[in-house]
Amino acid sequence: MLRVKNVTKYYGDKKAVDNLSFEVGEGEIFGLLGANGAGKTTTFRMIMNLLDPNEGEITLYDKKIDYDVTDKIGFLTEERSLLLKLTVKELMIYYGTLKSMKKEDILKELKIWLKKFEIEDYEDRKIKELSKGNQQKIQFISAVIHKPKLLILDEPFSGLDPINVNMFIDAINYLKEEGTAIIFSSHQMNNVELFCQKLLILNKGKTILKGSLKEIKNRYDERKILIKADVTKSELSKLKGVKSVIIKGDEIEVNIDNKEDAKGIFDYVSKCKNVIKFEVVELSLHEIFTKEVGAKNE
Ligand code: ATP
Repeated sequence: MLRVKNVTKYYGDKKAVDNLSFEVGEGEIFGLLGANGAGKTTTFRMIMNLLDPNEGEITLYDKKIDYDVTDKIGFLTEERSLLLKLTVKELMIYYGTLKSMKKEDILKELKIWLKKFEIEDYEDRKIKELSKGNQQKIQFISAVIHKPKLLILDEPFSGLDPINVNMFIDAINYLKEEGTAIIFSSHQMNNVELFCQKLLILNKGKTILKGSLKEIKNRYDERKILIKADVTKSELSKLKGVKSVIIKGDEIEVNIDNKEDAKGIFDYVSKCKNVIKFEVVELSLHEIFTKEVGAKNE
């Protein structure tokens, strides 16, 4: 559905995005990640047709993105921007009309979303009177009121409490089920792991990792083994392949560079007394991100 093909963008002499390519299909959540200044916002602005690429092409349903097509896109920007003096209803009518919607359809959709976010009776409240979390919900609704085919979510959870985070998670999963293609950007890698089947990591405009979450994780042989048993740090340190042993509360964490070595450690631990836990864990996306982005910036 969305195709970004060999896209490069310069600001003066500075290459902000370098030969970027990816695709997002219906009902797919794609993670676009990167440290500050990696080129994410520039990419979102090019997808929104707010900036032109210097090279390459961006298409939605095989059509170059123009004003017609931008009506099919929703964008939750990282910086929140709401018209504070308006009521929720007035604001949605304003945004919905900009997206070529009829007033009755706007009000119908608004009701559905206010119910989902458990703020049914907020239609006539002024935006400035709402809490930060509720303002964020209104910002989210303004990005999806026109039922976009493609939705860009830039740090959707920032400033939300855990209950509101859960409501947003439900909302995003609902949109995915409805077939919306979603680009998700966040510095919080646990959220990315939760949602994204495919992802791409940018560093200084360049693509340094791209693929499915599973594929990417499989590329790394490092493992962390979490153990709860009657076994000591010094015993574990002597086993083949053990890189480090760290005591974390009532657990012991053993780090290995090669997943094949987990078996030997298991054989040893299984002979110890009181084995409550033996869990082999892949690198987290947070660890992969730090490893890759850190290495490129050294
Ligand atoms: P963040 O996570 O901090 O929002 P980002 O990944 O969105 O970062 P961009 O804002 O796209 O990154 O910036 C990419 C690079 O382009 C940065 O080096 C930035 O300084 C530069 N840049 C962004 N906008 C402009 C501009 N209008 N003029 C010149 N340089 C710019």
